[in-house]
Amino acid sequence: MKILVTNDDGIHARGITVLAGELQKLGDVTVVAPDRERSAVGHALTLHHPLRAMEIGSSIFAVDGTPTDCVNLGIHTLLGFKPDIVVSGINRGANLGDDVTYSGTVSAAMEATLMGIPAFAVSLATSGPGDNYQSAAVFAARLAGLIFEKGLPADTFLNVNVPDVAEAELLPPLVTSQGKRRYEGLIIDKIDPRGRKYYWIGNGQQNFRDLEGTDYHAVSRGHISVTPLHLDLTNYESMQLLRKWEFE
Ligand code: MN
Repeated sequence: MKILVTNDDGIHARGITVLAGELQKLGDVTVVAPDRERSAVGHALTLHHPLRAMEIGSSIFAVDGTPTDCVNLGIHTLLGFKPDIVVSGINRGANLGDDVTYSGTVSAAMEATLMGIPAFAVSLATSGPGDNYQSAAVFAARLAGLIFEKGLPADTFLNVNVPDVAEAELLPPLVTSQGKRRYEGLIIDKIDPRGRKYYWIGNGQQNFRDLEGTDYHAVSRGHISVTPLHLDLTNYESMQLLRKWEFE
């Protein structure tokens, strides 16, 4: 199995090192990841300046771009072959609910899916540095094996969140839906040392709605969460409604 590994926490993050190490037991791993943290850049693609890729180890490339850039460069240039699977992570912190649209980790898996390569994103649900990347990596390797064997439905990739507990304490994986966040009180506004106002977007971590069947519901109770996502964001039910509007 040929595996491309990327992330958005940067090539030196603990999560990607542990993930690549575990996936190496399954096949040939190439790491192409941002040279620094690029969390919350979403699906951004660098178009207005050149990109550099530095081979900092055997089959390990650091790119001065976004996770989406890394998947593009990896697949089109650096690898010289098409990988069987792309795995993005292990992100430091959960990627749950509406937050997936901000996530560089999830967007990297999305980019691979656009290129027709099966992919998933994996995140460790921790609010600190994280203690149990290894248990998340073990599950990621098992999942990569399953995807290699069974494939994924068209247009579909997986968003995986693993609670930050030891492997023996993890509850069984649940297939979940994308949860909902309450967006309130996220902006901090203060005065800087020169008397000017500044704003800082906070993270309001516990603001998810505790809806049964969702990613948040599963992870907050100790289960691994596996959410199938797809690229087509069309709200088909709304099409009929909109067609009744008098646009002109
Ligand atoms: Mn991140």
